[in-house]
Amino acid sequence: LANAGVHEQPVYEPGKPIEYVAQEYGLDPTQIAKLASNENPFGPSPKAMAAAQMALKTAHLYPDGSCCQLRSAIAELRGVGEDALIIGNGSNEIIELLGHAFLRPGLEVVMGAQAFIVYKLITKLFGATPVEVPMVDFGHDLKAMRAAVTERTRLLFVASPNNPTGVANSEAELIELAESLPEHVILCLDEAYAEYLEQAPDLRAQVHAGCKVFCMRTFSKIYGLGGLRVGYGYGAPELIQLLQRVRQPFNVNAVAQAAATSALKDDAFVQMCRSENESGRACLVAGLEAIGYPTLGGQANFVLSNVGDGTAFFQALQQRGLIVRPLAPYGMAAYVRITIGTEAENLRLLDVAREVAQNTG
Ligand code: PMP
Repeated sequence: LANAGVHEQPVYEPGKPIEYVAQEYGLDPTQIAKLASNENPFGPSPKAMAAAQMALKTAHLYPDGSCCQLRSAIAELRGVGEDALIIGNGSNEIIELLGHAFLRPGLEVVMGAQAFIVYKLITKLFGATPVEVPMVDFGHDLKAMRAAVTERTRLLFVASPNNPTGVANSEAELIELAESLPEHVILCLDEAYAEYLEQAPDLRAQVHAGCKVFCMRTFSKIYGLGGLRVGYGYGAPELIQLLQRVRQPFNVNAVAQAAATSALKDDAFVQMCRSENESGRACLVAGLEAIGYPTLGGQANFVLSNVGDGTAFFQALQQRGLIVRPLAPYGMAAYVRITIGTEAENLRLLDVAREVAQNTG
């Protein structure tokens, strides 16, 4: 084991599951609200659940390894070619496929200093070097990121909106960055929260023009399927072909494929989630600010709040059955990230936060 060579690799530690928290604090699991992982508080769409149930009937068969139906549904919705799409076991897997295809020791990956943590984990896993660029006003500084590119850079990650800060970059600046990158660098645009934007950026023209842009999306957020693990990548067919070579033959299970295909077509559900998210964001920002916590609403399905001591706040809330995400691991010890919940969850969060503020204030 000592020779495994992965001892330096950090362990990814997502928050504790509801059942664990319930047991630890002697709480009823049904009374716990998890607002820590930017999941959809409205659950999966009923259509996706029905499709998943149907798919279980043929669970003895291997899934379609090339995800034909799902790719075709995405291609139609997004107006792109099926050969420009790859489906993954969550977009996390797609990020890993990028590592398999492009990263080796000695190469570099440019990312924001407070960006989605998996970029750094995957970069290190393949022995490459993460180059972290300071953010400006909680957003990606695309000019500084461009300036950090060297001969050794292969990937440049921009999450827009970014997790954990919620700030998005404009379409114009993303296009400018894409067009300015040298041939040997791929702009990996992580659009996990793009469906929450009024208008998601459209980089299809840049994809058509060459291989330098790769966009990723997920079914874990607005589509409410985080537990089923489905995400996808969109890019030039030549790039997609490379990623197809490094994935497992049956990387996305049949239930997930069926649910995702139906979720994509349930526009009414998506619209409802988007509009509830907008009002929930306004409610949380106003409520947290009124308590005295400066709060950034962002453009995703979570808010970023400066509560003084994020870890203490997280613990105080957890004891009361509310799970949020402290941001000390991102070097933001004063902050917590709070997923926008249902109206009832948001109001409860504010009640508890008020009580905690009075006790500590
Ligand atoms: N990118 C970003 C920016 C995210 O916030 C997340 C999930 N938290 C992911 C990717 C991974 O999503 P998935 O569930 O599809 O692996």
